[in-house]
Amino acid sequence: MKYLILVGDGMGDLPIADLDNRTPLDFAATPMLDDLCQKGRLFLTRTIPEGYPPGSDVANLSLLGYRPEEYYTGRAPLEAAAMGINLAADETAFRCNLVTLNHKKDGKVQMIDYSAGHISSEESRQLIETLETECATKTFHFKAGISYRHILLVKGDYPAMDTVPPHDFIDKDVTVPWQRYMENPEWKELFNKAKSILANHPVNQKRAAKGQNQANGIWLWGEGKLPSMPSIQERFGLQGSLISAVDLLKGLGVNAGLDILNIPGATGYIDTNYKGKADAALECLKTQDFVFVHLEGPDEAGHQGLMQDKLQAIEDFDAKIVTPIVSGLRNRGEEFRLIATMDHYTPLSLRTHIDNPVPTILYDSREQEKGSGQNFSEKTGDEAGKKKNGTLPDGETMMKQLLQQQ
Ligand SMILES: [Zn+2]
Repeated sequence: MKYLILVGDGMGDLPIADLDNRTPLDFAATPMLDDLCQKGRLFLTRTIPEGYPPGSDVANLSLLGYRPEEYYTGRAPLEAAAMGINLAADETAFRCNLVTLNHKKDGKVQMIDYSAGHISSEESRQLIETLETECATKTFHFKAGISYRHILLVKGDYPAMDTVPPHDFIDKDVTVPWQRYMENPEWKELFNKAKSILANHPVNQKRAAKGQNQANGIWLWGEGKLPSMPSIQERFGLQGSLISAVDLLKGLGVNAGLDILNIPGATGYIDTNYKGKADAALECLKTQDFVFVHLEGPDEAGHQGLMQDKLQAIEDFDAKIVTPIVSGLRNRGEEFRLIATMDHYTPLSLRTHIDNPVPTILYDSREQEKGSGQNFSEKTGDEAGKKKNGTLPDGETMMKQLLQQQ
């Protein structure tokens, strides 16, 4: 038996007037998902526990069968894992953005750009290397990542503080969170030193001359220690792989003990290498039991508020990921059980995530049970969820159902 989880990131949405008051998933042509849903089970999964932010980190951790209440320690350690950084037990990872800040004369601080103009990795590596040379101490170390996304490693005890994600403050006042950094002498020294080094750096002088946003500050957030997660092998007895274009997902996969399959041309958007992903999933199932395939496109389209792109991403998920994988397994005569779902909603009208429970298909290629008889949508999922008297399975329960371990 082979086991699959296929995830359209942020695929869930709300009814839209221009789509006859249907959601993009309901409106888009998804013949394979509808067929699997009709012949399989349909239920709701609660991927975001109450009180947790509806992030992709928490939601996909759930979909891998780990309860966030037990295993979630923050976003930065997952991204560090994806960058190949092995966190020691006494280290904490912080996400370190290179940002554009406006320090006003009255002492107020404004977040102009959480990404310093989506600064290139080549430029940012020079900046981070300079910061490491000039600011590193026994406690603090900078590690260069991609574009504006870097990591600060902190060894041993450090002054704790409340941090906020910079992308929640685009163009907004960040005086209060900035002051929190300034309250402690160690953090204050680090931030101010970084500020003066960045202000005089040739990379920023060139950016200024070209009229680009300068990376004139660092912003620390998403901190956490290494999650101690037993692997999927240890928990469920499965060997498997994870396929995604997104570092955060790769970090989750590393911590879950999955092999990470890097697909050339996987972009995280609607121009991604679908065929490469589907082929890799089929290939790894020749020798392994489990694959988790993640498609970022619907989420990106949701954040950008682009309805046509979201419809396209959903139709491509059906036609270019789910269909070839299902057909490939059927052609090989392989028995399989498959989950198709999303991690969370990213409604086009809101352009951010919300924590609604997500409609979930569980299909068994042996087709021994009576199917749901329903097409796959948020509405049919909600109706199926209501019949369960309000108790919804979490990701761990979903995984156990997939594996017939409960
Ligand atoms: Zn997501």
